[in-house]
Amino acid sequence: MAFKTIRHKGPQSVGLATRHLQNLRRRDFLAGSALVDGRWLAGEAREAVIDPATGEEIAEVGRCAAEDINLAIAAAERSFAAWRELLPSRRGAILRDWASLMLDHSEDLAILVTSEQGKPLAEARHEIAYGAGFLEWFAAEGERAYGETIPSHKPASLVHVRMQPIGIAAAITPWNFPVAMITRKAGAALAAGCPMVVKPAPETPLSALAVARLAEQAGIPPGVFQVLVGNPIELSAPLLRDPRIRALSFTGSTQVGRLLLEGAAETVKKVSLELGGHAPFIVFDDVDLDRAVKGAMAAKFATSGQDCLAANRIYVQRGVYSAFVEAFADAIAQLNVGHGLEPATNIGPMTKLSVAHKCRDQIDDAKKKGARVFSAKQDERLAPNFVLPTLLSDVTENMLIAHEETFGPVAAVLPFDSEEEVIARANASEMGLAAYIYTDGLRRALRVSEQIEYGMVGVNTASFTGPPIPFGGWKQSGLGREGSRHGIEEYMEMKYVCFGDLAA
Ligand code: NAD
Repeated sequence: MAFKTIRHKGPQSVGLATRHLQNLRRRDFLAGSALVDGRWLAGEAREAVIDPATGEEIAEVGRCAAEDINLAIAAAERSFAAWRELLPSRRGAILRDWASLMLDHSEDLAILVTSEQGKPLAEARHEIAYGAGFLEWFAAEGERAYGETIPSHKPASLVHVRMQPIGIAAAITPWNFPVAMITRKAGAALAAGCPMVVKPAPETPLSALAVARLAEQAGIPPGVFQVLVGNPIELSAPLLRDPRIRALSFTGSTQVGRLLLEGAAETVKKVSLELGGHAPFIVFDDVDLDRAVKGAMAAKFATSGQDCLAANRIYVQRGVYSAFVEAFADAIAQLNVGHGLEPATNIGPMTKLSVAHKCRDQIDDAKKKGARVFSAKQDERLAPNFVLPTLLSDVTENMLIAHEETFGPVAAVLPFDSEEEVIARANASEMGLAAYIYTDGLRRALRVSEQIEYGMVGVNTASFTGPPIPFGGWKQSGLGREGSRHGIEEYMEMKYVCFGDLAA
């Protein structure tokens, strides 16, 4: 296998994010630290927002305190009655206006995302469109929140089931999709008639606050959509404790998801969780290799690998194993590493240094245990958050990367022999979010997609998300679904009504 040098750029990107932020059309995107009850709060202690590509401070936000959460819950409570009484078509019109404003300001929003999250600008632009899509989808879904009429089991009676908004919802959102993970939750909650309080990740407050500016501009009433930036534990504790918060939606690690589930138990909230993944990407030897390599590139390196759908274990059948590894290595060698605001960049920094450390630990562990490693030499001038795209081949099940999520641009390739074997190995995980199957055999595709224990399966495709699909995982990858007609159900209660004694 040819070991080539991966192209990457040095630290000439210092000051790049600051220059872009100075040129935003909407200067107000950088003002304020929280939107509570229709007012912009400055917050207390200042927190630096960091460009992960350079380590520079690019902005400051204030930290909200637990009392601000209480104010937000009270405002949400006041706003609930009027919001739920609005016609769904009216709520939908406001959500559509919000989506249009996001698209109108897509460039500013994308610059904010890239500056604080690190992803390439083209991917950030895509995230804005993807995020706006959830608002549009749920704008319509609110009008279709049908109940049912059930043929009665009692004489002279009528049986109805109505869907009603559950109450105030809270969202705790991650840094890898700092816009779309907010709109995917808020679109569903608001369409259902529920106010929502959002606590974004501390690494990416600017994107969340800009989305809140546009929500306000779209005419979402005070208290219906609120965002508070601050310490995760301090802010989530009052959200968990408060019985007025009836639904909690979280995207992030399985570890934090478990804590939140436990915390929500006391007030028995409806909890939806989108947690970690450990996606198997299975390549059978009947497949067109080019398509499989393109799919693996997309499934592994989108969002610089910081994606819960990322291919974590690439299982390749023995007959095409060597050819696949060689072609995959060649494709990886074409990736450009650099600041997300540089146009040629395909791979940006890890948003959090801890994720970069985890990647390096997995590479070291695999190397020690006999994996072949393909990567360029780390350039000392790159900020420590960068992990160069790395291919590990001949990975075995005893290596860390084979049983823990990576969340970075490190691709693990493992050989396999039979269909039964690879299904068993793919399913031998406590995670069950996404899986990929590449085969030209129709019956094989049907068999494997049936037997695989994952919530989402891409057959000969690495690109399957979008507003209409039920996004969610099995096992410890989560609870509930987001997007699709099911997403709105996370924010609704079913009410069964029996009208009796109807005989004249
Ligand atoms: P995390 O779970 O710690 O953070 C996600 C969100 O939870 C953030 O808003 C964070 O502020 C909040 N949070 C953290 N600790 C909390 C607590 N004790 N109480 C309440 N809220 C809390 O994730 P991370 O450490 O930033 O990333 C680590 C790993 O999480 C990644 O490597 C990846 O495996 C996973 N992750 C998954 C997704 C996803 O899309 N499913 C997104 C981000 C991270």
